[in-house]
Amino acid sequence: MTVIHRESGVIKKEWGGKLPVLLVYPDTYRAGMSNLALHTLYGILNSMDNVVCERCFWRKGQKGPLSIESNRQVSDFSIIAFSISFETDYINAVDFLRASSIEPYSSMRTHGPIIMAGGIAITLNPEPISAFMDVCVIGEAEGLVGDIMSVVHDGLKTRKEKAFILKELDNLEGVYVPSFYWVGYNTEGRIEEMEHKFKKGKRIRRHIAPLSEGISSTVIYTGDTTFSDMHLQEVSRGCRYRCRFCISGYAYLPPRHRKLEDLKKDLLSLPPCVKKVGIVSPMVTEYPHLNELLNYIHAIGLKASMSSMRADSLAILDINNLEMSTDQFSAAIAPEAGTYRLRRVLNKQLSDEQILNAAAFLGEHNVNILKLYFLIGIPGETNDDIKAIASLALRIKKALKGGKCRVSISVNPLIPKPFTPFQWLGVIKQNEARDKINIIKKSLKSSGIRLEWEKHYLLQAIISRGDRRLSEFIVHLSNTDKSITHAIKESGIDIEYYALREREHDEVLPWDFMDYGFKKDFLLNEYRLGMKGVITPPCKPGTCTLCGICYY
Ligand code: SF4
Repeated sequence: MTVIHRESGVIKKEWGGKLPVLLVYPDTYRAGMSNLALHTLYGILNSMDNVVCERCFWRKGQKGPLSIESNRQVSDFSIIAFSISFETDYINAVDFLRASSIEPYSSMRTHGPIIMAGGIAITLNPEPISAFMDVCVIGEAEGLVGDIMSVVHDGLKTRKEKAFILKELDNLEGVYVPSFYWVGYNTEGRIEEMEHKFKKGKRIRRHIAPLSEGISSTVIYTGDTTFSDMHLQEVSRGCRYRCRFCISGYAYLPPRHRKLEDLKKDLLSLPPCVKKVGIVSPMVTEYPHLNELLNYIHAIGLKASMSSMRADSLAILDINNLEMSTDQFSAAIAPEAGTYRLRRVLNKQLSDEQILNAAAFLGEHNVNILKLYFLIGIPGETNDDIKAIASLALRIKKALKGGKCRVSISVNPLIPKPFTPFQWLGVIKQNEARDKINIIKKSLKSSGIRLEWEKHYLLQAIISRGDRRLSEFIVHLSNTDKSITHAIKESGIDIEYYALREREHDEVLPWDFMDYGFKKDFLLNEYRLGMKGVITPPCKPGTCTLCGICYY
């Protein structure tokens, strides 16, 4: 039995006269089908009369890519569209092109399908993969994908050359055609300037979608995902708390919510296989009509589950309508740092008391699994801050008051992401990271608290902060069977340059050619406030002009 036989909601369209698009998720089927962005794109593309969209999932080392819906070869499609949420998936994307007998470098392809990529990793920094892509989509897909498809469809119908179609696409907001830009470097090898070859001064404006048109929710249901009988429904985008390391608080600004009436309407048409609604938002407890929504979900005979809750706002919940009475009630708290002093650096305004109250609240409601998220490598961090991670985890376990809850902690090195106030920082060295992890492990010994951490964070740091000169590095990684650590060593990549060093505040960053709607000075000011441990109050859309995005 193939995966498609276990799916419900799959869309199979006739091909005649339509633009065939292969939507590629460069990771496993399970990972892709658990990804809301993939469902959203699949739904949008197939809602267009002139488009037929099929899926393909790809992980390095697989053989013979074919579409899921009709078993077609990659060469049958006019557009190959990658949906990329994680930077390290750039490696799988390049492997996919080669496995499909497509020349990976765009400069070597004068005809053939248009290769494009979108998703949050691309929106933050498309440069490391830019040598392989004809087109990158910067920002949110809703409201933009339709224009892109129309340009390509019209161009192919009238037998226009690929170069002509790319020029037309270059006129759309949020569309980046990497081959139209050149990059100049100074004698130290740092980027000096990056310019459009034909339109001097042009910057790529991030596309912000109106959420009123949002259809970001599960389209295909299958048991082969993390959320088997669950319908995922996005209710908000952008987080008003703006933690200084977090992309939800910057790359998705301004904070927006979907209308309750629209959500209710959508939820009424769910197929019978759905038993649960997963409410998706950077901070579910921020959705202004949350209790009404929970009541409604309960009233139509479904259960609700939530992606993320803020520890200081749990008490507002109408807890009876949450999936908390079942055998497996899991929750997560993200203190991020062990001490309030470091939380202020992050702009995470949560006291130990609020965190412990949240744990007690969850304990009273019989939570079975609790996951805690922490960062290491925060500026100004000391060994006492590291020890405080373990001690806070132990206090949280105690506050749960009951032996049944399994507590685990995820501790990850801070990777300063583009377009956040921390974008100039470097990441910590591997030996430092290991030492910090060992301190926490030692303090948690015999506590029953499990610890996990991302050992290959350096790869993510190199790619997410890299430039277009990383193309050979990505090809090398897609080509080798060696472990990640060996492959990085063998490649000779300059880890200090790409990942470890702190960048100059006046340095041209590889992602500076994009316009996010706020100025670099806004981020720099936030960075400086962070270094002083000063808290910035949350967004107040409608009355605030602080970053300028609300009037972008
Ligand atoms: S203008 Fe103010 S409310 Fe709007 S996104 Fe910027 S900080 Fe937030």
